[in-house]
Amino acid sequence: MTSSVQNFTDAVGNTPLIRLRKASELTGCEIYGKAEFLNPGGSIKDRAAKQIILEGEKNNEIEKGGLIIEGTGGNTGIGLALVANSRGYRTLITIPINQSDEKKDMLRLCGAHLIETPPVPYSDPENYVRTAERLAKELKSSEEHGLLYSNQWDNPANPAAHLHTTGPEIWGQTKGKIDAFVCAIGTGGTIGGVGTSLRERNPAIRIGLADPEGSAMASYFEEGQLKSTGSSIMEGIGQGRLIDNVKSAQVNDVYRISDTEALLVLFDLLKEEGLCLGGSSGINIAGAIKMAQDLGPGHTVVTVLCDHGQRYQSKIYSPTFLYKEGLPSPPWLG
Ligand code: PMP
Repeated sequence: MTSSVQNFTDAVGNTPLIRLRKASELTGCEIYGKAEFLNPGGSIKDRAAKQIILEGEKNNEIEKGGLIIEGTGGNTGIGLALVANSRGYRTLITIPINQSDEKKDMLRLCGAHLIETPPVPYSDPENYVRTAERLAKELKSSEEHGLLYSNQWDNPANPAAHLHTTGPEIWGQTKGKIDAFVCAIGTGGTIGGVGTSLRERNPAIRIGLADPEGSAMASYFEEGQLKSTGSSIMEGIGQGRLIDNVKSAQVNDVYRISDTEALLVLFDLLKEEGLCLGGSSGINIAGAIKMAQDLGPGHTVVTVLCDHGQRYQSKIYSPTFLYKEGLPSPPWLG
């Protein structure tokens, strides 16, 4: 039985590790997914949000009534807004307009001030991260209770959350019997933090990158060049520029995963194992299957199930949306 906790912040983390039956049977390995969708704000990003705010408090950057600003694909914003609500702060979130309505609705529900930006790359000043950076500079002097620019992209508190919690939890839950960890990169906080934590405990553990189409991370780790082709509908992952968190990540193996591969894994998991997961989880599990196949039977591979599928019901579980994208639909939805 889990013990009771005092508040929202304390409820973040300590998620279960779920054995993925079909992936394990297919590969002869034990493949586990860490159920990050069970965090109180609904995603793995609750961990980074909590750590970023606690660090901001420690450094006296913010006090009750102060403002937190972040550019986010949604999940970090939701985590920040909820931790902020529970600790007496306000939030201003910038988000690309093409992120799911479910995430944007949740941010509004939290009371965050939401600014939607065009879905343009970082090089464009209208980009969501650039907009957040600009607003943080502009508003700094007028916020009498302090302004915390969360900056998950370059903030060491983001990987630190995974170094100090996600990684040690995985090590404990597998009792150290783990051969590989694999996941995608959004900010790189997860792969960097979990990777370092596991390697400190066993330097032989392999770290795998599952990269969606349109991301430049696979080519970066293979040949040191940022190159990408294609595009992906999966949200919160894929990266086209070199951010601090990624520079320090150690990656042994790289797997490129298409949206179709990830969707087929997701539909199967929902129908046959009762797991309704977001798009990045599909990319991660498809990566875990490929990595397990490379390692051969008898190994243990762990990945992260970053958020719940309902957060994307109007996209990756919508036959209308999927048909328009030329992608497969859940067979039972017709
Ligand atoms: N999956 C989802 C659904 C996310 O929102 C994010 C964060 N953007 C990630 C994966 C990637 O995690 P990280 O930022 O730690 O690389």
